[in-house]
Amino acid sequence: KKHYQEEFEEKFDLPHLKDVLDVQPIPTTFALKSRGSQVLDGTNLSTKRSDYVDNDDRALLKVIKYSSPTSAGAECIDPDCSWVEQWVHRAGPRKQIFFDPKDVKAAIVTCGGLCPGLNDVIRQIVFTLEIYGVGEIVGIPFGYRGFFDGSLQEIPLSRHVVQNINLSGGSFLGTSRGGASVGDIVDSIEAREIDMLFVLGGNGTHAGANAIHNECRRRKLRISVVCVPKTIDNDILLMDKTFGFDTAVEEAQRAINSAYIEARSAYHGVGLVKLMGRSSGFIAMYASLSSGQVDVCLIPEVPFKLDGPFGVLEHLEHLIKSKGSAVVCVAEGAGQELIEKPDAKDASGNVVLGDIGVHIQQKIKRHFKEVGFFADVKYIDPTYMIRACRANASDAILCTVLGQNAVHGAFAGFSGITVGICNTHYVYLPITEVIASTRQVDPKSRMWHRCLTSTGQPDFM
Ligand code: ATP
Ligand code: MG
Repeated sequence: KKHYQEEFEEKFDLPHLKDVLDVQPIPTTFALKSRGSQVLDGTNLSTKRSDYVDNDDRALLKVIKYSSPTSAGAECIDPDCSWVEQWVHRAGPRKQIFFDPKDVKAAIVTCGGLCPGLNDVIRQIVFTLEIYGVGEIVGIPFGYRGFFDGSLQEIPLSRHVVQNINLSGGSFLGTSRGGASVGDIVDSIEAREIDMLFVLGGNGTHAGANAIHNECRRRKLRISVVCVPKTIDNDILLMDKTFGFDTAVEEAQRAINSAYIEARSAYHGVGLVKLMGRSSGFIAMYASLSSGQVDVCLIPEVPFKLDGPFGVLEHLEHLIKSKGSAVVCVAEGAGQELIEKPDAKDASGNVVLGDIGVHIQQKIKRHFKEVGFFADVKYIDPTYMIRACRANASDAILCTVLGQNAVHGAFAGFSGITVGICNTHYVYLPITEVIASTRQVDPKSRMWHRCLTSTGQPDFM
């Protein structure tokens, strides 16, 4: 059997401070801290050598054995290949670290939209920094804005301050879009004498963090920039899932359930739910699958038409005639080519999408009026309710591990990296690899076909 190994060594190499600076490692020790009668020491992280992660340790990102190159499809770049392997760096505490904890000032910033679990990550970063013995931990308020808006003060953070912040959703530090030039942000980081910057955000935030990392290298600053990916859409490349996604699906399911009850209880009822998903339909797909009550799931990756033969409206007519009601779940980025775009951008430069939910609602109303067939449309947009939720149990665990690993990564001397769970392993990845493009639902994937099997919808083309 021939093995095909991607050139992982280079592609997933992690940028390290020692690549550009003359820095020497020191052995990892942990400050002894008393908390009541309990003494926290290294045992909270690792004491035995075997518990540390070596910089040469790798986790297998992906391994599939294909029966033939045909079943490997696009994955197969070698006609003889039947295996695909990709290896990435394991996350976790290192035996040697590149910062003396007592000299470290660490800062945390959250940018972009809200996502369940932000507070859980902030909390774990603070806890872990304290266990390393870091004395000064601050929060930068309201995203990158906090670096340049003189009216905003740093928020001092400690175990005491963040103890209960996970009990509510949102971001304890506040968040924002848009911002100053990277040069100004790095000027501010330098002036504040920050050594480690933890950045929680989506693709835009990661691009910003990578630019900050590069500018710090150019200025030869001994500053580590480590990200934790925050995207409720679950659209980050390579990762099994991002925090907040599970919670979002669970909450979205509730909205679908309400839409179903409304639709079923109304005469000729149509429940319409618009969910998040600017360019990736993962939330809509998983919520449709998990609820089992959706008849039509529309996502950005799969084109559809509303009017005419084999269109969504015709199918809705059929559903109402055959079973009395119908539920439609649409991702916000779906069917953008069908509607007029507002031609506007948000503060961060992201294109403002046209409202596909309202468009479909109006189309359904108009269509049924035209065909002289009554339909009662109930439209639900639960977006802000979902984003503001606190993390559920599985997301809270994910956030905990990601937050801890972000701190281990910074102490290990890496910068320009992000943390994630890939193929069930916790790993570090270079920021550049995860923002190269957006992860999307593959319309040819098993999962999308499972969703179609569940909804029973035809192709709307
Ligand atoms: P989400 O879209 O999931 O809510 P995001 O991180 O993509 O999160 P954005 O509003 O796009 O959210 O960006 C967050 C911050 O990152 C903003 O302050 C924005 O100015 C900054 N940013 C975005 N793109 C870049 C870039 N290419 N370079 C530097 N900074 C950027
Ligand atoms: Mg974004």
